[in-house]
Amino acid sequence: MQKREELYRGKAKTVYRTDDENLLVLHFRNDTSAFDGQKVEQLQRKGMVNNKFNHYIMQKLEAAGIPTQMEQLLSDDECLVKKLEMIPVECVVRNRAAGSICRRLGVEEGLVLNPPTFEFFLKNDALHDPMVNEYHIRSFGWAKDEHIAKMKELTFKVNDVLTALFDAGGMVLVDYKLEFGLFNGEIVLGDEFSPDGCRLWDKETNKKMDKDRFRQGLGDVIEAYEEVANRIGLTF
Ligand code: ADP
Ligand code: UDP
Repeated sequence: MQKREELYRGKAKTVYRTDDENLLVLHFRNDTSAFDGQKVEQLQRKGMVNNKFNHYIMQKLEAAGIPTQMEQLLSDDECLVKKLEMIPVECVVRNRAAGSICRRLGVEEGLVLNPPTFEFFLKNDALHDPMVNEYHIRSFGWAKDEHIAKMKELTFKVNDVLTALFDAGGMVLVDYKLEFGLFNGEIVLGDEFSPDGCRLWDKETNKKMDKDRFRQGLGDVIEAYEEVANRIGLTF
């Protein structure tokens, strides 16, 4: 496999074409952003930690029967993935209230959500990723009914697998964001799962071990990500 030209430079990753039109290289950079790209910093080791973390999680999800983009780890900060036709919505499941749901609905951080909630957001930084519903997704043609249903089913399946994995490591999976795309007409999990796109709290102390450490200026961001990894059996 030969890496070819840059296809897209996002806020945290750069996507490259390869000599195989069905495969891409994802390069995880150290860039860390929050608030739709308004706060940006370089955090040493982040690219490596998130790349390996994402590969580890996607392997676990694949083993649990969830179709993922993952082909192989290529280096410390690169992996080879299937080229998906991305669906421009983010799928968010919440087991506890935190972040935007607290601001929108005036609920206290930490409230247990049983059953967990599901929300769609449009991927659009200029519009600040507004929340959308299934009617918007259908009317604007972002995804078909069967694909909407599949994204929800798989996002909840991910919740079962990862809630158990993090629980065994002494952590609560508070919420997370997934992105899906189509590969040969089938819904496949893309993008990344790392502490950049989820919330994880220590079960005993409620210590935040995810990107909220960066958003809220709590420090030791990558140290916390590495601790999360170690607790679920991944060492660097
Ligand atoms: P953003 O676009 O939000 O700044 P990133 O820096 O993570 O995010 O950029 C990665 C981009 O690559 C995102 O737009 C994401 O939708 C896209 N992407 C992720 N995985 C795949 C894939 N397997 N195939 C095609 N595109 C992908
Ligand atoms: N999230 C993400 N990318 C986004 C928006 C949200 O990865 O563009 C993740 C976020 O890290 C959290 C979950 O999705 O784990 C829910 O985010 P929320 O709606 O609470 O927004 P926030 O307040 O984090 O911006």
